[in-house]
Amino acid sequence: MEQLITSPADAAEHKTFLAKKPLIISGPCSAETEEQLIETCTRLAATGKVDMLRAGIWKPRTKPGLFEGVGTKGLPWLQKAKQLTGLPTTVEVATPKHVEDALAFEVDVLWIGARTTVNPFSVQAVADALRNTDVPVFIKNPVHPDLELWMGAVERLAKAGVKNIGLIHRGFASYGNTEFRNAPMWHLPIEMKRRLPDMPIICDPSHICGNRTGLAGIAQKSIDLDFDGLMLESHIDPDNAWSDAKQQVTPERLAELLDGLIWRHETT
Ligand code: PEP
Ligand code: MN
Repeated sequence: MEQLITSPADAAEHKTFLAKKPLIISGPCSAETEEQLIETCTRLAATGKVDMLRAGIWKPRTKPGLFEGVGTKGLPWLQKAKQLTGLPTTVEVATPKHVEDALAFEVDVLWIGARTTVNPFSVQAVADALRNTDVPVFIKNPVHPDLELWMGAVERLAKAGVKNIGLIHRGFASYGNTEFRNAPMWHLPIEMKRRLPDMPIICDPSHICGNRTGLAGIAQKSIDLDFDGLMLESHIDPDNAWSDAKQQVTPERLAELLDGLIWRHETT
């Protein structure tokens, strides 16, 4: 698996955005309107605590009839947010067309969502679309606790020539009402860290918790376990968000949350 690993030298060579530690990514679950996205992103940038902006453009919803994302028309909004803030951007892609459209609008980093990682056909189609690009890609864990499937997605992208791959731990689904929306099952991402020691892995407390109250605890736990960063959802009006309303926080609350974390000191 050596060819997967991003050493600092490789990282510089391939202009990766994944190498910073801690890497803090935030933005709304979904881009809703141009105003909502731009205001969220400019307020995030004003905190000075965010390295990269996220926004869901195509949303994988459980049932039809729910808000399924604004689609490609949201990409120019994100491009504008990038120009206004100077921050790189990331979006979820699930199909070759998503990859093509995202790259056409200068999205810097792509991520594969949990519902896509479970499907080898989809992962392979995305991997094939990434051939001959040098865009960094995060891979979220699959919805259910299957490490081989997560590894398989890493291998499919690596075989397609993707040099900069990172992992996102977003927890694992179980049936019924549970403490977490997606149980963290920390031993599973820890095993991924053991297998891929040089691959960045960040934590997504928003989708683990499914609520606002648990975010800081999960974020702190991931720092204590030496994760490389965080992806946290934020929104200018969380209660009225069109998706994942319960777990989003305002940009200013996000900054407070980040200030409250105790960052792990590396021993030399
Ligand atoms: C998201 O990041 O908004 C999302 C849909 O996440 P996941 O794939 O982890 O469910
Ligand atoms: Mn979400």
